[in-house]
Amino acid sequence: MNSVRYERPTSIAEACDLLEAEPNATVLAGGTDLVVAMRGGREVNLLIDIKGIPELERLEFAPDGELTIGACVILQRLADESAIKKQYPGLAEAAGMVGSYQVRNRATIGGNLSNASPCADTAPPLLVLGAHMTIVSAKGERSLALHDFFQGVKETALLSGEIVKSVVVPSSSRVFRTAFFKIQRIQGHDLALLSVAGAYSPEQGEFRLAVGSAAPTPVLMPAIQGISPSNNIDEVGERLADKALSAISPIDDVRASAEYRREMTRVLCRRLARTLLQTEEGGCFAA
Ligand SMILES: Cc1cc2nc3c(=O)[nH]c(=O)nc-3n(C[C@H](O)[C@H](O)[C@H](O)COP(=O)(O)OP(=O)(O)OC[C@H]3O[C@@H](n4cnc5c(N)ncnc54)[C@H](O)[C@@H]3O)c2cc1C
Repeated sequence: MNSVRYERPTSIAEACDLLEAEPNATVLAGGTDLVVAMRGGREVNLLIDIKGIPELERLEFAPDGELTIGACVILQRLADESAIKKQYPGLAEAAGMVGSYQVRNRATIGGNLSNASPCADTAPPLLVLGAHMTIVSAKGERSLALHDFFQGVKETALLSGEIVKSVVVPSSSRVFRTAFFKIQRIQGHDLALLSVAGAYSPEQGEFRLAVGSAAPTPVLMPAIQGISPSNNIDEVGERLADKALSAISPIDDVRASAEYRREMTRVLCRRLARTLLQTEEGGCFAA
């Protein structure tokens, strides 16, 4: 690694000013992706370490139920937080399945999403919850739907000088049961071969589905309406799978074949339907 300048701002404004002055600077959060990339040859001139900024550590439900997750909230905290486990079990447990305990105690939600890997575990559960990103720069603040944030493998809609400040889950998502399933070879050392997240509102009859590790970005499907717990669960699972398979483009790689990923998409969609139509809260499981 070459020598690198390092700054540790204590406020968002200071971080934005540093980025404005040096547009090629790189934001550092937990470093669990970035430091690995730097060891692999990624060139960095200036690291702006945002982990000491208190505002980025916020994790709170507003009185109306809107959830704000600061960009530097670590994944283990998301996994442990009782209010999140109760309200959005799919999100809590997806966070709890990232890497190992050591990784989750460094890795942040902002880093998981900004790294824009198709395998980012927190992306599918946040997509089905209709999350949006609050993005900040020296020029001001803007909000962007998470499904517009992902542009391609390792590509986001962040512009030069911008930082993710928080991820916001709207209060309207409280009516959804959520679940998350992930297939990986070795817990703690391997990324997902495939992941699916679902959200189901019995009151609205709405079923939302997102798939990870099966296309250049995590993919959110158009919602399915008119689903009731009295529907044939296997038929709902097949509808979800058909929808997913028409939208994803799984690849053959060293970890799994495209055919295996397609088959597992069907299996996980059936499990999602079973979990969300049969239970009251929803849940989350690793396969
Ligand atoms: C052994 C191991 C196992 C892993 N297993 C998994 C797994 O199972 N599932 C999974 O999803 N991931 C896994 N990862 C990847 C990684 O831990 C996550 O993606 C992590 O959440 C990244 O967060 P971070 O805070 O470490 O980001 P960093 O490494 O600090 O940053 C990642 C990228 O995001 C940018 N960035 C970070 N924060 C911001 C921000 N607020 N605004 C703008 N840009 C920002 C950085 O500039 C960098 O480009 C694993 C990593 C390791 C090393």
